[in-house]
Amino acid sequence: MLDGRAVAAEIRESLRTRIESFRVAAGRTPRLGILLAGDDPGSALYVRNKMKTSDELGMATVLERLPDTASFDEAMSIVFRFNKDALIDGILVQSPLPRGMGADGEQKLFDAIDVEKDVDGFHPLNVGRLVQKRAPFAACTPSGVIELLDRSGIEIAGRRAVVIGRSDIVGKPMAMLLLHRHATVTICHSRTENLADVTSKADILVAAIGRPAFVTGAFVKPGAAVIDVGTNALTDRSMVEAIFGATSKKMSAFEKRGQVWCGDVHPDVDQVAGALTPVPGGVGPLTIAILMSNTVTAAEIRCT
Ligand code: NAP
Repeated sequence: MLDGRAVAAEIRESLRTRIESFRVAAGRTPRLGILLAGDDPGSALYVRNKMKTSDELGMATVLERLPDTASFDEAMSIVFRFNKDALIDGILVQSPLPRGMGADGEQKLFDAIDVEKDVDGFHPLNVGRLVQKRAPFAACTPSGVIELLDRSGIEIAGRRAVVIGRSDIVGKPMAMLLLHRHATVTICHSRTENLADVTSKADILVAAIGRPAFVTGAFVKPGAAVIDVGTNALTDRSMVEAIFGATSKKMSAFEKRGQVWCGDVHPDVDQVAGALTPVPGGVGPLTIAILMSNTVTAAEIRCT
């Protein structure tokens, strides 16, 4: 099992001296502006964890909350305010936005973020820079996966990597980062034919699909490193039992809380894979650690 929590802790520790140097030079600490719109409980939890981590590192956050009924213009005015605020170094717009803000609302807000403060790396200019391998910030989750592979001693160069998923926030930047590290990369998606044939050739398999336990042993080459990005909340008892078994720890956790987290990778894959990330405790903590790292980088760039 690859220990995402331990690697995230290493990354956080390595930030402390940079944060202190910045504080001495700039007379303040790096600051992240967060927009949280709507009532999604998952989003509220992610934002709480991000604020807690920032706090523990001695960094600052400014949280702006909007109700589910808020208009897109209200969200945009917060982004503009964060852009103008000289003391804010990084801006995070937490996904998903309320439906009322429109299908393209999220992208319009990403487009409006000052590129220098785009610590999620979703602005089109930073996406283009990522393709050209000169982005100051790349998307946090894929960057976290690269850190995890590196710090776990898993070779990337020359290996065959397959990414399942082609979203702008995970799949595409993941493929690009693996390519920059000299992997031979294949991207799969819902129209890929004979998916298991393609994925079972991968030395490194990244699953970013959003379907619980979708990737079974048949998808995996024996000994491969399997990175499970999926975070799916299971609230159905029979599903938890079918995936994890009636006597599993997950089942007992479900009995207590009425919900458990499940990745995109089936737990039985641990019998086939050479290395595997757990859910939770795999990729999730790394996403937050990289967000902090990108915010420190943004602060350093803005103040030099
Ligand atoms: P997304 O935008 O919904 O993209 C899912 C991708 O999976 C799409 O490209 C889709 O293909 C592909 N897909 C769906 N069904 C498939 C199938 N049957 N076979 C092959 N490919 C299939 O999701 P996302 O935002 O990338 O997130 C993916 C997962 O990662 C979610 O569970 C999300 O919660 C999780 N996540 C976790 C973190 C973290 O920090 N741990 C961060 C971000 C996301 P098409 O393009 O053809 O539709």
